[in-house]
Amino acid sequence: MKPPLGDSGCDMLGWKWSETRHFSVRSTYAMGAEQTMASADSIWSCISKFKGFPKIKTFLWLLAKGRLMKNLERVRRHIVVDNQCGVCAAHPKSLDHLFRWCPAAISVWSALVKPSKFAEFLNMERMDWLQVNLMRHSYFASDPEHWNFLFSVVLWRLWLIVISVFLIRITRKGDR
Ligand SMILES: [Zn+2]
Repeated sequence: MKPPLGDSGCDMLGWKWSETRHFSVRSTYAMGAEQTMASADSIWSCISKFKGFPKIKTFLWLLAKGRLMKNLERVRRHIVVDNQCGVCAAHPKSLDHLFRWCPAAISVWSALVKPSKFAEFLNMERMDWLQVNLMRHSYFASDPEHWNFLFSVVLWRLWLIVISVFLIRITRKGDR
């Protein structure tokens, strides 16, 4: 850091994301883009360093990329008439139901996540949620030891339940 110059006036607080150091609505978009890119970069680096089972690593990558639901939807559209959750009969619009809001997911997470952070755990934006759970083990976990592994395995198991129920429905439909 440079020392203050004699004729540059008093120290003042300034808005980091603008050249003039004055706040503007436009500069908040730059700030948002910068933070989103930083967040996206760190989630990919975090997943690439994941030391768990390779198939769970691939699963995390697909989840972060938003590819899981797209793949499932593509098949579902041709085979299953509706998008009913096979576990609770809700009609979810996103993966957040399967991984966080479905009663099956809630019953698992409620045993593992700090009660004081549970509402935040359920409602955090998905990429931030993945990143916090994979990188900041003590933020949500009641027991932070190996939390990134446990978190990933629970997600993977929830996904397997979804796939199993999905396959059962396809089989039943084929039997009719
Ligand atoms: Zn459900």
